Amino acid sequence: MRAEIIAIGSELLTPFRLDTNSLFLTSELNKFGLRVTHKSVVGDTPEEMRSSFGQALERADVVVTSGGLGPTDDDRTRETVAQMLGRKLYRDEGVFQKIQERFRRFGRAMPEINARQAMVIEGATILPNPKGTAPGLWIEARGHVLILLPGVPQELRGIFENEVQPRLARLGIKQRLYTRELRITGIFESDVEERVSPLYPQYPDVEVTILAAPTGIQLHPRLWSEDAAKAEAQLDELVKRMSLVLGEYLVSTRSESLEEVVARVLTERRATIAVAESCTGGLLAERLTSLPGSSAYFVGGVVCYSNELKTSLVGVPAELIEAKGAVSPEVALALAEGIRRRTGASLGVGVTGIAGPTGGTPEKPVGLVHIGIADERGPRASEFRLPGDRERIRQFSTQRALDMVRRYFLFPA
Ligand code: ATP
Ligand code: MG
Repeated sequence: MRAEIIAIGSELLTPFRLDTNSLFLTSELNKFGLRVTHKSVVGDTPEEMRSSFGQALERADVVVTSGGLGPTDDDRTRETVAQMLGRKLYRDEGVFQKIQERFRRFGRAMPEINARQAMVIEGATILPNPKGTAPGLWIEARGHVLILLPGVPQELRGIFENEVQPRLARLGIKQRLYTRELRITGIFESDVEERVSPLYPQYPDVEVTILAAPTGIQLHPRLWSEDAAKAEAQLDELVKRMSLVLGEYLVSTRSESLEEVVARVLTERRATIAVAESCTGGLLAERLTSLPGSSAYFVGGVVCYSNELKTSLVGVPAELIEAKGAVSPEVALALAEGIRRRTGASLGVGVTGIAGPTGGTPEKPVGLVHIGIADERGPRASEFRLPGDRERIRQFSTQRALDMVRRYFLFPA
């Protein structure tokens, strides 16, 4: 069955507010076997709402709206839908009293305009709103289900969980969505696609979405099916084959983040880690401490932005910085080795690079990053040319550094 979401609210068409309700709704609808085929965002204008509704009713079995149930003149969802379905609006006394009561509880008289929120479409089931004044409405009409919900995210969620979920379950939809999530890093999106796409023709029912970010690439194989066992088996097989072609770029098939994988391997090996960061300004330490229990492996770190601190706190020889420059493989090695020695950690990581936008030269352009990793056998360094603006370069740098730690354990050179 197909579902469509309409987010109503003129503020959602400004640069200041984003429709996030539809993300929640999509995930919930999927759980009940409803496939979201369209989403739209529309202002509080009746004509525009009519056009969105018209289309939605042609395309979808279930239409869910958010917003426009407020008390003010610009909240027109009820009126517009009633008109489109050729149904009357009436004032529901039960809802009216609840609204009055709510105001009384907060020590206020109910403003006249809030009476609008007690208006209900003929034939609709009222979905009580414990967190606000406007109830939601469940309407069955012309073979469709229409679900009207308020725009305030907390209220929408509350009504969805209490009232909509059990009703959707009763629709008895057999189809379910089965998914997997693979995390990949150290490879471009197009290279991932090139590796995995030859598998697609053998799995014509599986849709694969690919999401790329500086914190890695995610592959989501998705399969709608009425047969759970068959779907799971098909996805397992596809994931196995994807894993083979992705090789050491594959971080996890269980939706673990790179941080989680690094934490797991450090803990398993009883290793400890310390970092000396220049261009990442502490972001690497931030990621290494983002998980609870990180004290088991993370010893600490130094943000040594200036050359003086690289020398005084991490022991990088001043002559080395003078001779090779702060952004050099030699300094990355010295940072990694220095922080390891000074902290007693089993692994040291050093990061130095040019995040830009200024400070680049033809020999050392913006995006050039050297990362060193040192153990008791000594340090080694890798050079990266990272794309993007300052923020992305810094994020990518932490990603590369964490991945070097992962590879150090799982794919030792
Ligand atoms: P209600 O139907 O609950 O009365 P409304 O549209 O009248 O909703 P608004 O005052 O427009 O209420 O919105 C209430 C709050 O909810 C605002 O902060 C608004 O930005 C937020 N909101 C509305 N729609 C969405 C949406 N689709 N995603 C996220 N936030 C939303
Ligand atoms: Mg609104």
